[in-house]
Amino acid sequence: MKAVRTDLKMADGRTIYYFDQSPQIRNAVDKREVEERPELGQMRLDVLTNEWISMAAHRQTRAFLPPKELCPLCPTKPGLDTEIADSNYQVVVFENRSPSFANPNGAFTLAQYANLKTPVLSAAGHCEVICFTDHHEGCFGQLPLSQIRLVMEAWRDRVKEISKMPYVQHIAPFENRGEEVGVTLNHPHGQIYAYPFIPPRTEKMVAIAEQYLASNARPLISDVIERELKDEVRIIAQNDHWLAYVPFASRYPYEIHVSPKSFVPDLAELSDEQADAYPEIAKEVLLRLDGVFGIEMAYIAAWHQAPVRSARKSFGLHWQITSIRRQPGKLKYLAGSESALGAFIMDMKPEQSAEQLRAVKL
Ligand SMILES: [Zn+2]
Repeated sequence: MKAVRTDLKMADGRTIYYFDQSPQIRNAVDKREVEERPELGQMRLDVLTNEWISMAAHRQTRAFLPPKELCPLCPTKPGLDTEIADSNYQVVVFENRSPSFANPNGAFTLAQYANLKTPVLSAAGHCEVICFTDHHEGCFGQLPLSQIRLVMEAWRDRVKEISKMPYVQHIAPFENRGEEVGVTLNHPHGQIYAYPFIPPRTEKMVAIAEQYLASNARPLISDVIERELKDEVRIIAQNDHWLAYVPFASRYPYEIHVSPKSFVPDLAELSDEQADAYPEIAKEVLLRLDGVFGIEMAYIAAWHQAPVRSARKSFGLHWQITSIRRQPGKLKYLAGSESALGAFIMDMKPEQSAEQLRAVKL
């Protein structure tokens, strides 16, 4: 599939990218009054963990669960000017109005991890919103396959392009679904976060992946996939190019990893065949997740990719879906052990949840 991209300017100077399955006329003008863009946030180093914390006070005022009639991600209609000036769209991407990370407008150097003297930095980076469909109702898993394919094409395009920004080290497209995980807009959409540092969990995974490659001459993820194929019990779905499984040591009652069967560092490097085979497995996995209790499952679905400029041969792309729901009416809260110490305790075996997910009738 070749997506057609049309770039237009929004009233306040941000760019909006329309992705279409075939050429469309896209020339709608954003007629809204120009609101001032928020100031760049800051990053402070937590010296006890050597982790950067970003602070964007302007995000306090962002839209919070507006009623459907006022949804800023729906297409513009008479009486409602939204973020998308056109009266319809297929997939659109635009820079977040209240970004956690943004263009530093000038040279940016990440301070080396140091000590109490490490300066406060600008929250350099980039944040985009990706709207999966112009229909307000529904969800990613219920989109037609061709629409999921178009979303994949938009992700590949954005990762390729954002990778060129000199201050970006790492890119993570993700989706939060459900008010239980902090969704502030119900319209089916995701985010693309581009960080000026390698996020803590990724940094840890990168170190392990690099070490594994050096001693085994194979990427770690390839051996993980081999183990899952051999054990079989945790597999939920597969096709020629992708494998979906509950990881051997899952952290959440319902955690699913979807990995390409052959190693790829990031979305931009996926082959067309791999990209073509994704919608089918993505849809199956998400429908199975909703089928477990017959309710819309709140989840976080995040792409783990190799950093933009390192670990390109050791860190393998995979899509991690985690749900904090244990049972209808019961959530897993990240409590003392998980939140304070980072040590997860699971009250369910991964093999059990894999069996439940497989048993869902589609
Ligand atoms: Zn909407």
